[in-house]
Amino acid sequence: MLDESRFYFHHAANQLGLSERVRDILLAPLRIVKVELITESDEGKLIKHCGYRVQHNRVRGPMKGGLRYHPTVDEDEATALANLMTWKTAVVDVPYGGAKGGINCDPKLLSERELNEITRTFVGQIKEVIGPTIDIPAPDVNTNAKIMGWIMDEYSKYQGFSPGVVTGKPLHLFGSEGREEATGRGVMIVLEEVLKSQNRSMKDVTVAFQGFGNVGSFAALLMAEQGAKVVAVGDHAGGVSNADGLDIVKLIQWTTEHRTVAGFPGGDAFESPEVLTWDADVLVPAALGNVLTKDNAADVRAGIIVEAANAPTTPQADEIFRRRGILVVPDILANAGGVTVSYFEWAQNIQQFRWELDRIRNELSNHMRKAYASVSEVAQSRGVDLRTAAFILAIQRVGKAALARRPYA
Ligand code: GLU
Repeated sequence: MLDESRFYFHHAANQLGLSERVRDILLAPLRIVKVELITESDEGKLIKHCGYRVQHNRVRGPMKGGLRYHPTVDEDEATALANLMTWKTAVVDVPYGGAKGGINCDPKLLSERELNEITRTFVGQIKEVIGPTIDIPAPDVNTNAKIMGWIMDEYSKYQGFSPGVVTGKPLHLFGSEGREEATGRGVMIVLEEVLKSQNRSMKDVTVAFQGFGNVGSFAALLMAEQGAKVVAVGDHAGGVSNADGLDIVKLIQWTTEHRTVAGFPGGDAFESPEVLTWDADVLVPAALGNVLTKDNAADVRAGIIVEAANAPTTPQADEIFRRRGILVVPDILANAGGVTVSYFEWAQNIQQFRWELDRIRNELSNHMRKAYASVSEVAQSRGVDLRTAAFILAIQRVGKAALARRPYA
């Protein structure tokens, strides 16, 4: 995944004519932290996990990015995703750098007590390098508000009360209105803008979702509310389709109970991988990375791909989409709603003041629409695709800030 994220960076850097020296400076992570977490299982045995926090860049502000709990988590993945966070925060112009991390584990195999102990051990071992003005973690794959609450509590034991050390916390523990839906809402807003530019609206399109976790389910719900027909949803265990549009409210109820969309009675069943090549106007990959590859890109039938997941498209697939005229809305733009509302949460924590849901939604909508407008302006003026344009915009913003801070470095 690291090679893929660097490929996109270089593609934009070529457009900007950046020297090797500047590229090296912009790509190098500031710090890579790897810790061994030794905890006790419910059976009283010692269990070992590896935790990571990669801090990529802090030129535009404290570093920011999620923590994922998944068996694929390693240094390479965390470094790639930390890189993407730097460009993402720059695209939506929130005052942060980029970081990412997580724990190599399968949370399905852990009890809540074990998860709690592993999380607290992790915080104890990275507490010197995180903090409200240093690096602020947030939820990502398989992590949630509950875990963010534990992180705040554990960090506060060492450093004193610090709600701003982590975002995505529970609402009753200094979390923010609208944070849970934020990434999905941002995905919906960006699609709305794309459709507007094509003189279409949400009512004119069918959508297929790969992944129905936090991001996928909120995006599907909000798109359906705006009149889109969500015709297929696939996840790790199976898929469900309905040409008349799935009832998303009922599908969310089903998945809350069954932990998968598979078996949902309001549609027909299909095998998970089929969702990527579903006959729909819009495809939303909303799960893990590297799912759209050279092996399936030629079979994708959607005309628009909105990357709700981080790094779902390999460079080879991206090239195939470009050649086929499929419009790809890149992750660093499409899914930036989450970190944007994380910024609002952090700002509220620092101000010790609460914003109403309406204000959050309006500010999010402004940030996303402005980011989309800036990216499409670069795309048009330079004649490049949206991903290259987003990277160009981000690299310019980070580069300018770096130069303004240390012109003689
Ligand atoms: N994990 C989310 C992302 O990949 C949110 C990060 C944050 O809020 O800091 O953008």
